[in-house]
Amino acid sequence: MAEEIQLDPKDWDELRELGHQMLDDIFRYLQTVREKPAWVEIPNEVKAHFREPVPRAPQDPKAIYEEFLAKILPYPLGNTHPRFWGWVTGTGTPLGMLAEMLAAGMNSNVGGAEHIATYVELQVIDWFKEVFGFPRDSSGILVSGASIANLLGLIVARNVAIGNSVRDTGIQNVEKQLTAYCSVETHSSVQRAMEVMGLGNRALRQIPITADKRIDVNTLEAVILEDKAKGYQPFALIGNAGTTNTGAFDSFSDLADLAERYGLWLHVDGAFGALVNLAPSLRHLTYGIERAHSLAFDMHKWLHIPHEAGCILFKDKYAHHSSFAMQSDYLFHHTKGTSSADIWLGDYGIQLSRSFRALKVWMSIKEHGIERFGDSIKRNVDQANYLKQLIDSAPQLQLLAPVSLNIVCFRYYDASVTDTKLNDLNQMILIELQRSGIAVPSSTIVDGNYAIRVAITNHRSQYTDFDLFIDKVLQVGQDLLQKFA
Ligand SMILES: *Cc1c(COP(=O)(O)O)cnc(C)c1O
Repeated sequence: MAEEIQLDPKDWDELRELGHQMLDDIFRYLQTVREKPAWVEIPNEVKAHFREPVPRAPQDPKAIYEEFLAKILPYPLGNTHPRFWGWVTGTGTPLGMLAEMLAAGMNSNVGGAEHIATYVELQVIDWFKEVFGFPRDSSGILVSGASIANLLGLIVARNVAIGNSVRDTGIQNVEKQLTAYCSVETHSSVQRAMEVMGLGNRALRQIPITADKRIDVNTLEAVILEDKAKGYQPFALIGNAGTTNTGAFDSFSDLADLAERYGLWLHVDGAFGALVNLAPSLRHLTYGIERAHSLAFDMHKWLHIPHEAGCILFKDKYAHHSSFAMQSDYLFHHTKGTSSADIWLGDYGIQLSRSFRALKVWMSIKEHGIERFGDSIKRNVDQANYLKQLIDSAPQLQLLAPVSLNIVCFRYYDASVTDTKLNDLNQMILIELQRSGIAVPSSTIVDGNYAIRVAITNHRSQYTDFDLFIDKVLQVGQDLLQKFA
């Protein structure tokens, strides 16, 4: 008789040994990440390596691992490095990594059924209700990130506004066109959510900001009234806890008041900023956030949970559940046995099969406790101010926006160079910093000027990293300046 096919290892000892090797290697990698460049350009031949035909015959795991060491591990994004400050990206933690491994070992599917992963996820959600002052009987779910969390929030907001019959009829037949409101600084994922929902991004009214980069609530109210008068149906306000450009916080109490006055849903996008709630000296920024109907935030940014991990909380658990719950013959819930769970998380979002994200969150929060996470967030904010001081004391550097929270936008400056050429110069400086592996800031445009943007959501950054960074900026800037003089 032919041997039965099996995907488990033929020799468990051999794979176990390889596994131990992998663990040793990746621990050494994380422990020495500071000694490596923050980013490495991928050689073309390495990219070409990933254009092979599909493997048809088995390969030796050891050889595959060697390939990983040679062709994959050396070319990461760099966000585990202490001088990675690009976009808004978390750093990850070693225990979080181990939790991912354990979760993959259990290979739980947290879409439903009676098994422990659901209870771990509900525990984690309860912790965040406590953190953000949401009532105990609120609900929530872990998702891939704030993009999906924003989408879920707006879907429930819409269904509450026009009734769950929209699940049957879609938005083809709505009497009045739905409109939502946010500031011009709002993250593009909110626009995408409106597009995905079929409402279209024009139905997202982007309201101007005041000098402190918060949504202008007076204009907001005027636009709502105008829309109502024109026959639109406003359904949601979206507030920002930490905008991507400048880390600004809208006034949640003003937004909540408006939401109450006009019967609107208040959704808060707190992707990274909401987590300042964990730092007592920054908590005031989130004042009123507990009045939101839904709150989206990420755990893979300022909580350093390995990607992906986002979350959304809903005050109204019925509204949440009834927007997504499905019934089907093959998902029958018995009162006993494997299908007996009361809560099937697959009924609270878009995904049915879901990974055991909660394990890495549960382990990480236990490992450090939320206060230490808060301290780490506060330190990043202090580091942003330290960086500002370094910039202020260097005549060749110019701050382009007030430092708010953890984001510093600046440029290299020379009075003899025009603004247009300064834009080119700073772009070259940024690219040189990245290509040399010194540091990875990203860029943005502030009042028409190209800015080097440093967003610090990195628990590995130390104060000396900013000294070194500024030294290099000055050096690179001076070298490149010759070309523009
Ligand atoms: C990162 C971010 C998002 C999107 O979150 P993902 O986790 O990338 O899906 C949304 N809003 C803000 C303010 C963000 O910073």
